[in-house]
Amino acid sequence: MAKVFHDADADLQHLAGVKIAILGYGSQAHAHAQNLRESGCEVIIGVRPGGSFEAAQADGFAVSGVAEAVAQANWVQILLPDERQAGVYRQEIEPHLQPGSTLGFAHGFNILYNQIVPAANIDVVMVAPKGPGHIVRRMFTEGKGVPSLIAIHQDASGQARQRALAYAKGIGGTRAGVFETSFREETETDLFGEQAVLCGGTSALVQAGYETLVEAGYAPEMAYFEVCHELKLIVDLINEGGLAGMRYSISNTAEYGDLTRGPRIIDGGVKERMKALLKDIQEGVFAREWVLENQANQAVFQALRRRAAEHPIEQVGAELRSYMPWMKKR
Ligand code: NDP
Ligand code: MG
Repeated sequence: MAKVFHDADADLQHLAGVKIAILGYGSQAHAHAQNLRESGCEVIIGVRPGGSFEAAQADGFAVSGVAEAVAQANWVQILLPDERQAGVYRQEIEPHLQPGSTLGFAHGFNILYNQIVPAANIDVVMVAPKGPGHIVRRMFTEGKGVPSLIAIHQDASGQARQRALAYAKGIGGTRAGVFETSFREETETDLFGEQAVLCGGTSALVQAGYETLVEAGYAPEMAYFEVCHELKLIVDLINEGGLAGMRYSISNTAEYGDLTRGPRIIDGGVKERMKALLKDIQEGVFAREWVLENQANQAVFQALRRRAAEHPIEQVGAELRSYMPWMKKR
């Protein structure tokens, strides 16, 4: 079992006098920056000119380019897109990092897969909320927090853990529980989860279900409601009470169908393929593919993204959602 830390285990004093440069002002960054500021930490933003730069200024932060922010900071939290981090690190971070400072991540990809190799005199830690940035921000303003992970890759100062815990407290993580993991465990489980279950598995399951109903002659609207729209209701029940809680709330007919038919769809063959995905993640095969794909200017990624957006399920969904104006696009 992972070690868990709560509010009383973390002390914001470990960040006293530490100037934190948040790099980026996207999903995670805007939430970390605002939560830390409201926790009494000194926060500056480093980001390229553009929308994020202006948003950070509008929120009242001191904003500069990445290199300038790094040069002033004792803690540099890299909240840039994972596929950009290594390039920005080489050009704008590494030359300006002060010895003894902390380099922080919210995901372990670039450290685990050797895309960023920090000097030995730097603390390297991870503070990773297990939720999207806007939830990290909203929960904090409501006095709550999002469960978070910490990991220590390099502890040059001997204080990396206390500081990482203080940062996790500053963003609200210890309110919900902070679990200690490693860069390797966080990265491998995160990639597996999003590929096999949360994003990849779920999208493919929804699309296959939709196509099966439409090809059998049912109305696309009915298909969309059944296999896509209602998914949220089921996921909310699972989130609140686990699989058992979800099964308690659904009808007996649904529960019997679940228990007897589910394993016929997601059978042993799926698990075998899941193991193959996990092996690709563990052996760096997926990481190398994604790094090279970015060097190829995302040729495959952009083509697949366009083709997915052209699938009929998207048109039907857009129309049905337009009748429900409260389902705002983010
Ligand atoms: P976003 O894509 O939301 O934000 C990226 C930010 O980086 C933007 O402000 C963008 O600015 C800026 N940026 C991009 N390229 C550059 C550059 N070359 N120089 C300077 N700034 C740049 O990122 P996320 O918040 O999604 O992800 C950040 C990290 O957090 C990643 O490591 C991710 O794995 C991790 N994470 C993300 C979660 C999430 O829910 N999103 C959950 C947990 C961890 P601009 O507006 O100019 O493009
Ligand atoms: Mg994840």
